Amino acid sequence: AEIRKAFADRIAAVEDKVKSYLTLTDDLAAKNAAKYEEKKDELLAGIPIAIKDNISTEAIKTSCASKVLENYKPPFNSTVVDKLDAAGALIIGKTNMDEFAMGSSTENSAFFNTNNPWNLNHAPGGSSGGSAAAVAAGECAAALGSDTGGSIRQPASYCGVVGLKLTYGMVSRYGLVAFASSLDQIGPITKDVEDCAIMTNVITGYDEKDSTSVADKAEDYRKYLKEDVSGMKIGIPEEYFNLDFDQEVKDSVLAAVKELEKAGAEVETVHITDAAYALAAYYIIGPAEASSNLARYDGVRYGLRSEEADDVRSMFFNTRSEGFGDEVKRRIVIGTYALSSGYYDAYYLKAQKVRTLIKDDFDRIFNDFDLIVTPTAPTTAIELGTKSDPLEMYYTDIFTVPINIAGVPAMSIPCGFDSNNMPIGLQLIGPHFGEGKIIQAAYTLE
Ligand code: GLN
Repeated sequence: AEIRKAFADRIAAVEDKVKSYLTLTDDLAAKNAAKYEEKKDELLAGIPIAIKDNISTEAIKTSCASKVLENYKPPFNSTVVDKLDAAGALIIGKTNMDEFAMGSSTENSAFFNTNNPWNLNHAPGGSSGGSAAAVAAGECAAALGSDTGGSIRQPASYCGVVGLKLTYGMVSRYGLVAFASSLDQIGPITKDVEDCAIMTNVITGYDEKDSTSVADKAEDYRKYLKEDVSGMKIGIPEEYFNLDFDQEVKDSVLAAVKELEKAGAEVETVHITDAAYALAAYYIIGPAEASSNLARYDGVRYGLRSEEADDVRSMFFNTRSEGFGDEVKRRIVIGTYALSSGYYDAYYLKAQKVRTLIKDDFDRIFNDFDLIVTPTAPTTAIELGTKSDPLEMYYTDIFTVPINIAGVPAMSIPCGFDSNNMPIGLQLIGPHFGEGKIIQAAYTLE
C-alpha cells in the first residue's frame, strides 16, 4: 500500500510537467490491494510498471500514439504483459511514444510531447520516450519499451536510465504492434542494472505464439550481478569513434572504458563497417516492413474510420490520410517504393545484402571479443522542436541501428553528464545471447 501511494503521489506531483503517460490505469488504486496479497511471493509483487503504448493490454487503450488507433482497446494481452501480471506487477499506465515507434524524440506522437525530466525543454528521446521519462521521473518502478533501431537505448541514454535491447527472439513479440518485424524487440527500461536483470528474468522465454521466439536460452540474469570484468575482452570500434560527434559524449564514454580497464578488462581497437551503411540499410528495411505491416489500418478492422467516405476506396484513402502522421506516411512511401518492381533489387535486396555484411562483421569481432563499447547516441538529449529535418533525426540512430540489423543485444547505461547537466549514455554490445556478459560489465560500471 505504501508503494502504491508513493507512486500515485509522485505521478500527481510531476506528470503535468513531464507528460509520460497517454493512459493511466487504476492499478494504483486501493481497490487493487488484493492483487498484492494474492501474488505476494512473486518477483514483482505490487511493483508499479509502465508499458509503452504499442504493447497490447487487454481492454486498455493501445493507441501507438496514433490517431488511427486512438480508441483501440485490444481484446487480449501481449505475452509480456501476461508475464508481468503473473509476476504480480501492477500495470499502472501506457506511455507516450513516437507514432508507431517511428522517431527519435517522441515528438511524432499524435497527441503531445513528453518532456525530459532532467530539463523540461529537452526531448526524452524516442521512440520509447514516455517509458524512459516515467522511469527517470520516478513515475513508475520500471517500464517496457520497444526497440527497432534504438528506441529503448536512445531514450534511456537521454533520460539517464538503463535500457536493454535483447537478442532478437528472446522476448515474445506477441501483442507488440508490428513496426518492422525482423528488427522489433520489447525490452526493459529501469533505473539501474539490477532492476534490468529482474525485469529481463520476467519477460524472456519461449513463446509458441511468436514464430521467431527462441527456445531454451533464457537464464537467471541476476547471477551476472557481480563486479568482475577481469579477463573480458572489450572492443572499441575505431570507425565509430572517428565519426563526428559531441566531444563531451566521446570523453565520457572513453573515461568509462578506462574504468573497465582498471577493473581488469582488456581493451583493444576493432574494425567494423562504417555505420553509415547500417543506417542506410535500416532506413530501407525498416520502412519496407512497416509499409507492409501498416497496410492493415484501412478503416475496416481497427480504430479510426473516416466519416468522409462514399465508397470503399475513399474510405481506405481518407482513413489513412487522416489517421497517419507525416513521419508514418513518409515511411510508408519510402517502403512501398523500395519494394516496388524495378526498384526491389536496387534498394531492398541491396539493403538485405548490407545487412548480412553487418551481421558477419559482428560475428567476426565476437569470435575474439566479449563486448563492444560505443556511445549510445552522438549527442545528449536534443532541445524540443529543434530537429525538423527527418534525415538529421535519422542520424541520431547511427550507433543503435547496427545492433538491430545484426540481431545482437545491447544496453545503454548512464556514464556521466555534459556541461549542461544532461545525461550521457554508453552502449555495451554483446554477441547473440550475450545478455549476461552485458549485465556483468554494466554492473561493474554502475
Ligand atoms: N529512431 C528509429 C526510427 O525512427 C528507431 C525507432 C525504434 O527503434 N522503434 O525508426
